[in-house]
Amino acid sequence: MTQESAANQETAASAGAVIVTGASRGIGEAIARTLAAAGWPLVLVARSADRLEALAAELGGPERCLACPGDIGNWDDAQRIAAAAQAKFGTIGGLVNNAGVTRDGLIVRMTPEQWQAPLDVNLNGTFYFTRAVGPIMMRQRQGRIVNIASVIGLTGNAGQANYAASKAGIIALTKSVAKELGSRGVTCNAVAPGYIVTDMTSDLPEKVQRDMLDRIPLKRFGEPQDVAGVVRFLLSAEASYITGQTLVVDGGMIA
Ligand code: NAP
Repeated sequence: MTQESAANQETAASAGAVIVTGASRGIGEAIARTLAAAGWPLVLVARSADRLEALAAELGGPERCLACPGDIGNWDDAQRIAAAAQAKFGTIGGLVNNAGVTRDGLIVRMTPEQWQAPLDVNLNGTFYFTRAVGPIMMRQRQGRIVNIASVIGLTGNAGQANYAASKAGIIALTKSVAKELGSRGVTCNAVAPGYIVTDMTSDLPEKVQRDMLDRIPLKRFGEPQDVAGVVRFLLSAEASYITGQTLVVDGGMIA
């Protein structure tokens, strides 16, 4: 074990478990794998119980990794999962609000239901879990919240007004939570990924993908691991003086 990973294991062991939403695949799964390797006990959340349970078994089983299936857009689920995490691990060291959905469409054709869907999951889900876990972290006088936003929340995007609004909301929520909870030793930051190769981006038309690649100075799409490493940093002791920030992970796309 290197000196750095030993230090991280120490940090992780003393800071309690991390709840990761949307851990069944994509960026959330990479975050779960990265945090498990750094020594964090985990609570995994998504709707697909089978995938979550298989991953939890792989990442250490019931002693180290608890699968908690649920819908993040449901306040009762958020409260149930926060309570289960605290009952199991005692301390909740971190919360990674990663689960998210898109429902793309042009604004002039968008139905109210289509508008609402990303807000219900992305923005409300981030609020519900922060609301359920925040008081526990305040009592502990320590905790790290990392919200997965998007560059679209900073720039907007044609065809994604609903998603953009949900992600811009997450960035504003992040700054507000940082200001409210900072005096209790709780940090709250956002990560804004650019184009990351996952199920969410797999069905974008080839031309859109080519145009996007042209706009990325590093000339490659991001991998889930590119985001997971930044989340791990924000949860580590090295990031203890960073709060209220949005870290862009996009290969330079919106620089
Ligand atoms: P993904 O591959 O589609 O995975 C989404 C994850 O969220 C899955 O684990 C899914 O699990 C979970 N999820 C969706 N709705 C849920 C709900 N109502 N309750 C609980 N879990 C739910 O997406 P991804 O690309 O990994 O995206 C992860 C995050 O990064 C999202 O917030 C996304 O907006 C953000 N992001 C992605 C990109 C990108 O290019 N991929 C760029 C910027 C930001 P179940 O289906 O099992 O519930």
